[in-house]
Amino acid sequence: MIDRASERDAMVERQLMRRKITDRRVLDAMRAVPREVFVAPGMEEFAYEDGPLPIGHGQTISQPYIVALMIEAAAVRHRDAVLEIGAGSGYAAAVMAQIGATVIAIERHEPLAKEARDKIARAGISNVDIQIGDGTLGWPDAAPFDAIVVAAGGPSVPEALKAQLKVGGRMVIPVGGSGTGQSLLKITRTGDDTWDEQELGAVRFVPLVGAQGWAQDGRQSASNHVPGQSSGKSLPQMVAEVAEPLPDIDDPSFGQFFDRYADKQVVLLGEASHGTSEFYRARAAITRHLVEHHGFNIVAVEADWPDAAAVNRYVTHQPVRDGGDPPFSRFPTWMWRNAVVEGFVEWLRSHNAQVSDPDARAGFYGLDIYNMSGSIAAVLAYLDEVDPEAARIARERYSCLTPWQSDPATYGRAVLSQSYHDCEPQVVEQLRTLLERQLAYEAKDGSRFLDAAQNARLVRSAEQYYRVMYYGGAESWNLRDTHMFETLEHLLEARGPDAKALVWAHNSHIGDARATEMGAVRDQLNIGQLARERFGDAAALIGFGTHSGTVAAATDWNGEMEIKRVRPSREDSYERLCHDAGHPQFLLDLHADPALRKRLEVQRLERFIGVIYRPETELQSHYAEASLPRQFDAFVWFDETQAVTPLGPEHRRASMPETYPFGV
Ligand code: SAH
Repeated sequence: MIDRASERDAMVERQLMRRKITDRRVLDAMRAVPREVFVAPGMEEFAYEDGPLPIGHGQTISQPYIVALMIEAAAVRHRDAVLEIGAGSGYAAAVMAQIGATVIAIERHEPLAKEARDKIARAGISNVDIQIGDGTLGWPDAAPFDAIVVAAGGPSVPEALKAQLKVGGRMVIPVGGSGTGQSLLKITRTGDDTWDEQELGAVRFVPLVGAQGWAQDGRQSASNHVPGQSSGKSLPQMVAEVAEPLPDIDDPSFGQFFDRYADKQVVLLGEASHGTSEFYRARAAITRHLVEHHGFNIVAVEADWPDAAAVNRYVTHQPVRDGGDPPFSRFPTWMWRNAVVEGFVEWLRSHNAQVSDPDARAGFYGLDIYNMSGSIAAVLAYLDEVDPEAARIARERYSCLTPWQSDPATYGRAVLSQSYHDCEPQVVEQLRTLLERQLAYEAKDGSRFLDAAQNARLVRSAEQYYRVMYYGGAESWNLRDTHMFETLEHLLEARGPDAKALVWAHNSHIGDARATEMGAVRDQLNIGQLARERFGDAAALIGFGTHSGTVAAATDWNGEMEIKRVRPSREDSYERLCHDAGHPQFLLDLHADPALRKRLEVQRLERFIGVIYRPETELQSHYAEASLPRQFDAFVWFDETQAVTPLGPEHRRASMPETYPFGV
């Protein structure tokens, strides 16, 4: 027997309460109404998923959260007279009736209306009257209403519906033409001739088709008041006014726009994809400026520690070491082996050449955990030099992981299927013994000890990471981001009171997770969130975004790099707002204007392209709900962007040492 009640409880807890639905009536009603009755036959198993579902005739049953949001906003109460337009499956009407309201719900598709009646009866709900017709005209016979909920999006708010609200009555309705996206509005009737309007957020509904909605062909049937246009500036206009147009990235004044972050201890620079040249170039320009003029001395990037360590030796003029794989040979190679990173590395090396105190040079470090075998090799190489007996014991401990070094992802499966003991005790023990001898080892060479200790920490984290990866869920993500953040903390600590760090990582690691679906619904945290919790105002979180262009990405994990076209941003996204603001590139300081901040806080879609880009399923694969001003302190915009140029073997340079990071 499938336990629908606990599925419902989980839905209410995860999808509604975590997204700040607080109205007890709504939460209780949604715990009670059997949503599985209202979905199309055969779709019951998906009834409690976090999204809309098809119900036939090209229509959908709304996402549970949207149903809750609308009913909460309409403040539906026991004994209220409620009108719903767009009964669809009848689910939202059933929830409102469960609260105790008397509901008239209009549906224009006759077969849907009949099915809805049937479903309402099967769910054991009374007090719902489903009518067939055009809801844009309302239901004058039963007017006025305490609340009107419209579940389809029109070009404007139908006058007929406004007139059928009681004074004090509330209407919730999605409105918006093609080209601007829809926005959910709450209209409150404040007097005989007065209505108040409030915007609740960007939404996607099927079209409201009728006399005061869209015509069948999608054109506007009636010309009504279009909200937003009468009430002052549009959101893109407000963005345009606050946005500070940026000069060319190569212009020396580019970095000066970021002087406002000079006093921060950590400045985190995001990116909306792992394959966009402008994001790398801008981060390099900002970093150069802050290193040169404001004493930043740590550049910590979303790359593997042992690989970045080779770059660090190069840029800080330490002797290069032979042996091992060339750095950044692991998929996705273009992320760090690209023309912009190469140029930045050369710059950092020449900058450091002018710093006479080796301890004052700016370092380049990797925060990520994927190169477990590289880290194991580095710990062993270190101990071979400083403590051969300890190296022998370490070799034995790490041999537990030997079978999996070339493909650590299979390790988790082996442990899970209990065909293999996990190696946790050994790797934890190895880290412990290394740290125990810190004083003795550090006396020989402090920076080399830091490197070795970090590698031993990485092996410990990676062992856990690959083991929990097989359970899915938030745990492996959280482990990785916690490791990355702790690595940053170790770096700051090792540098002492003058430490100031720049972090380069994807927006999904940098933007405060609590302001996005990943934190609110999926229990994921990230570096940005941890940085705010630890450093407060001494951390600046800066996101990056683009409208369209090209990007370097693969179609599948471990696949070939391709240059793909980035689709123009969706109408209901933050990206489209920035695009519509009209400047080709700008810095948007999200603390600059409280009115803009408030309007931008309402959640919208935001695009996340990683090393994989699948334009065919872009909405599902790459967009997520977020609140931009809560996620970031500033947003850097490049309307049109180009793919990064990867470094191939042809980039081997004769003048470079054999082990130069990109020389292989
Ligand atoms: N509240 C519904 C969601 C239905 S989707 C649920 O919980 O399942 C929106 C519905 O609005 C569709 O079924 C569509 O046919 C209907 N619709 C669109 N325009 C309409 C109009 N003018 N009058 C009545 N129904 C309309």
